[in-house]
Amino acid sequence: MIDIKICPVCGGENLQRFLSSKDNTVSQQVFELHQCQTCKLGITTPRPADQDLHQYYLSDDYISHSNKGTTLVDKVYLIARSFTLKWKLRIVQQGNTAPGKILDYGCGTGEFLSACRNKAWTTVGVEPSQAAREQAKKLTGSPVYESLQSFTDDNFTVITLWHVLEHVSDLDETLSLLKSKLAENGTIFIAVPNHSSWDGQHYKEHWAGYDTPRHLWHFSRETMKTLITKNGMKVTGTIPMKLDSFYISLLSEKYKNKRSSLTGMLKATLNGLTSNVKASKSGDYSSLIYIVRK
Ligand SMILES: [Zn+2]
Repeated sequence: MIDIKICPVCGGENLQRFLSSKDNTVSQQVFELHQCQTCKLGITTPRPADQDLHQYYLSDDYISHSNKGTTLVDKVYLIARSFTLKWKLRIVQQGNTAPGKILDYGCGTGEFLSACRNKAWTTVGVEPSQAAREQAKKLTGSPVYESLQSFTDDNFTVITLWHVLEHVSDLDETLSLLKSKLAENGTIFIAVPNHSSWDGQHYKEHWAGYDTPRHLWHFSRETMKTLITKNGMKVTGTIPMKLDSFYISLLSEKYKNKRSSLTGMLKATLNGLTSNVKASKSGDYSSLIYIVRK
């Protein structure tokens, strides 16, 4: 286990514990969440060392790396994912009249890249999990690398990180490499959970967006802006992910009650809706996509 003593966003050293959150999908271990008192970044610490983190990705429940919809929550996830895939494609294509070159960092099994390829985009993926990487290569018929350091290709029109940056241990190194691979007028889309959202505040330690210890950092709009600015880029806008509040509330109800139930599903629907209504005024949606440019 390693202790994080310094905030990677602002360098602050005053980190205060604010929650204990259980790993509900793999280890059932409880992890402590701290918050930087200067910039408010949420930090999972102590946490497994980088070389041990892969052990926490071995569950069948971690279905961003699998396509089996066995439980009700999984089935809902797969339907939502198909809808979200088309929606993400529209976001990426906006502002790009001709298909360009796209890098999906943390591409999983490659479904998003495959959708991009079907629209004539040139695709490159990065995925640390070997099993997922092999599937992604087959599905896209394009290069999928283990890390950003494994290839020299650059000048990407679009770079996407769909719920990935919160898993990355070295934020500055990753952002600096991504910046170097981005075309001068290119765009990076960074989707991450927002623990300042209404559902984040409502479910507290049961909030599925914490997903410890896989989520090392817990961002808000302020901390993301600070991190991006510090790395010589700018956040030019945000896009709400309105389906996430429902999915995250559904998982959170399951964690809170230790099982799925009809009552839990109804509560999750109501809470997902409440979160979106509150966010329509505050801007604090359950998950946000940050639009980042050089
Ligand atoms: Zn900080």
